[in-house]
Amino acid sequence: MDKNMYCNGEWIGADLDRIKVTNPATGEVIGSVPNGGKSETKQAIAAANEAFKGWSKKTANERASYLKKLYELVVNHSDELAELITKEMGKPKQEAAGEVGYGASFIEWYAEEGKRVYGETIPASHDNKRLHVWKQPVGVVAAITPWNFPAAMITRKVAPALAAGCTVVLKPAEDTPLTALRIAELVEEAGFPKGVFNIVTGAPDVIGTELMENPIVKKVTFTGSTEVGKLLMRQAADNVKKLSLELGGHAPFIILDDADVDKAVQGVVASKFRNAGQTCVCANRIYIQPKIYDAFIEKFNQEVDKLIVGDGSNDNVHIGPLINQSAYEKVDRHVQDALKQGAKLVTGGSGFEQEGAYFYKPTILKDVRDSMLIMNEETFGPVAPIQLIQSDEEAVQLANQTPYGLAAYVYSEGLSRGMKVVEALDYGIVGWNDGLPSVAQAPFGGMKESGLEREGGHHGIEPFLETKYVSIGL
Ligand code: ADP
Repeated sequence: MDKNMYCNGEWIGADLDRIKVTNPATGEVIGSVPNGGKSETKQAIAAANEAFKGWSKKTANERASYLKKLYELVVNHSDELAELITKEMGKPKQEAAGEVGYGASFIEWYAEEGKRVYGETIPASHDNKRLHVWKQPVGVVAAITPWNFPAAMITRKVAPALAAGCTVVLKPAEDTPLTALRIAELVEEAGFPKGVFNIVTGAPDVIGTELMENPIVKKVTFTGSTEVGKLLMRQAADNVKKLSLELGGHAPFIILDDADVDKAVQGVVASKFRNAGQTCVCANRIYIQPKIYDAFIEKFNQEVDKLIVGDGSNDNVHIGPLINQSAYEKVDRHVQDALKQGAKLVTGGSGFEQEGAYFYKPTILKDVRDSMLIMNEETFGPVAPIQLIQSDEEAVQLANQTPYGLAAYVYSEGLSRGMKVVEALDYGIVGWNDGLPSVAQAPFGGMKESGLEREGGHHGIEPFLETKYVSIGL
């Protein structure tokens, strides 16, 4: 499956070197995309700039009708998109189908939300003045997306940007460009005007530098590592580019002793093992109080033992491969470090390599301590480390003891008790008795070093809008 870049309504880059795309479950090459660079990025930015003139002047209703067409096309092609996601990213079929549904929900939601971009009138201090606040699209937007949600991370950024009246240049992750380009084909089929949505593939630093330095780009929205996020922030300083960043996380999963243990087991299995643990909101560390410590671990272990590891295109598989060798090595380093420092292995604890594909068994570690690597660094793998804690205060203190602040989870059946813990957590998203809190209509994003701004909800369109204050003298 060889695809080209999408720029100004045309498919470009056929003459460039190719970047191979492989299936992480088999190591097999499944396609290729062009190795675009500075000049293709400039071309895409110029196309988006030209298209902005017309797109920003369309009514919200007109923009909504294009987005609704795109939504229908994505839904009608969900099986095919899911299959492609599994092929280039590795997540199991059913999860991939879930991602397509989740991704499509942002298109549908923002088609409508674009109609609710309201301004304000403000009472004036003089009877001959009228004060207004207008909302206007920021301009050309650059979106840089990661590999772990090849479809949804695109729609979560692009749908609100387009609904707001912005035009977009997207740089998808090098591991998963095929899903992005398939979505571009659907954008073309939906009849969007040329240049409204463009995709460039190639070397991340070269494309990234042009997107950051080019003054036509007014806003950059990024999901990925904290390291690259910080680099983009530094690059943004030179022309004070607006930024939305959704960076790393290290989610604490706190189970208080008044929790419903079965619910907590379900929640942690969903949060921890989804996408083989490769999401920024995956539970990274589990804290449990003594009264339910053993009972929880026993039930959790029974559930984890049912999880099957393998190629996600097989119907019975729950945990696909890790994205690459270095991901595998990091996961194993976290496990070995914990074991060396005295953690006890409940299940799993190793992985395997198969013709260039890397798998890790779902793993539970108990009696983990907060000095261990796994309790501090983002693991991005199917490993659940459990630490015994005593008080609710200790849970909060440990949970907040990190530069990250994306997602946290609290299991407690007590209203006052749960509320106090949830309020004290420095996290942008908290699932209280809920292991899967993310939906299109709610704000997703982090505090502290986990990011800037929010995606989803009415909050998610704001970063694509400028506020213009207009004072009118009569
Ligand atoms: P991960 O560790 O999840 O791969 P990255 O931050 O490396 O996270 O990647 C997320 C996205 O950022 C990808 O699209 C990747 O190509 C892009 N990226 C990586 N390095 C740079 C860079 N120097 N400038 C701009 N984008 C980059």
